[in-house]
Amino acid sequence: MAAVAVERPPIDEKIRTLKLSGHVGFDSLPDQLVAKSTQNGFTFNILCIGETGMGKSTLMDTLFNTSFESNPAPHTLPAVKLKSHTYELQESNVRLKLTIVDTVGYGDQINKGDSFTAIVDYIDKQFDDYLQEELKIKRSLSAYHDSRIHACLYFICPTGHGLKSIDLVCMKKLDSKVNVIPVIAKADTISKSELTKFKQRIIQEIKANGIQIYQFPTDDDTMAKVNTEMNNQIPFAVVGSTDFVRVGNKMLRARQYPWGTVQVENESHCDFTKLREMLIRTNMEDMREVTHQRHYELYRKKILETMGFSDVGQDNQPVSFQQTFEQKRVEHREELQRKEDEMRQTFVLRVKEKETELKEVEKELYTKYDTLKREHAEEKKRYEDLKKRLDEEKAEFQKRKHQVATQQLTSHTLTLGKTKKK
Ligand code: GDP
Repeated sequence: MAAVAVERPPIDEKIRTLKLSGHVGFDSLPDQLVAKSTQNGFTFNILCIGETGMGKSTLMDTLFNTSFESNPAPHTLPAVKLKSHTYELQESNVRLKLTIVDTVGYGDQINKGDSFTAIVDYIDKQFDDYLQEELKIKRSLSAYHDSRIHACLYFICPTGHGLKSIDLVCMKKLDSKVNVIPVIAKADTISKSELTKFKQRIIQEIKANGIQIYQFPTDDDTMAKVNTEMNNQIPFAVVGSTDFVRVGNKMLRARQYPWGTVQVENESHCDFTKLREMLIRTNMEDMREVTHQRHYELYRKKILETMGFSDVGQDNQPVSFQQTFEQKRVEHREELQRKEDEMRQTFVLRVKEKETELKEVEKELYTKYDTLKREHAEEKKRYEDLKKRLDEEKAEFQKRKHQVATQQLTSHTLTLGKTKKK
């Protein structure tokens, strides 16, 4: 039976609701969506923040019931480094591309003041990569490997004393960028009564510092009750283990001690199953959505605003992307023109300055040349005078020499005459 055709109403006209008089088939849309999503597979990216040796790798192995074969990190790194590994997992016919990012060297430096910087930069970089893909002319978001962090597990040291300042600062810096889920690590090392007080203190401190941790969604009626209950139990106190211990006729993940066994999946031993339920089984999609719709939107908005884009103009009227872009282009051209003029003026000024400088130098050189020329002429004249005087003296000397010689000859002749007469 054919469906009643729905006329496309003008945009401002109220949309009418019509009744179908038979089966049409678009009720299969959710199934189509499921089939398509299953075919494409899913991505989920977890960031684990916590000091070295806090049990991050072990918890990941425990959560996904596999071995990710990570190497223990040393305590000697000079700075925090983020290392990511991506794995393809499959459960039934659902494929999951899981990326686990570890904060290697977190809390190992003497000055822990900027331990969060590398983490913030990493999260922003993933947002930026996605934004760049979105802004490409030829984009392929369906094939794009989305590396944005969907869940950030913050491992709290089980001291029983409350949060350290590095925890508060880091969570505060991240709460608007990522879904922060605090967990108490190695919860088997803290007693039950201490754990209750510890949890309360942590929540008090988180609230007092205005840190917005991720809340499991309560708007869906089917999940509202469970999620509200779970929100009240945050931070989950978790235990991880790569060992299996036989309990009865079952092999269970557990940590064995001389005084007993801590079963990871036993709710009376720790909150591991609650974390797994909330993180993987119930709210994975919500975390992906919140990442895209809240955290990424915030990042995108900030970046576009920094670039000068806005939804409304100065007169508070809506402006389109093209209008803003055109305006930016005009502004950019004007700015370029202004800079060019400025540079030209500066150039002309510099040339003039250089010209004046050169003229000064030329003038100085002429003056110097004149002085030297004059000095040279004077010197020449002095030498000529001196030569003239010397020549005169020489002539005088020759004259006198001649006179003396004549006198001597005369007196000699006279002496000879007298001798002969005798
Ligand atoms: P990471 O450096 O944070 O990745 O820590 P690892 O997962 O490598 O764990 C460091 C050490 O802590 C290993 O010896 C683990 O066996 C141990 N460990 C991991 N999880 C727990 C836990 O829940 N409780 C206890 N007591 N030890 C744990």
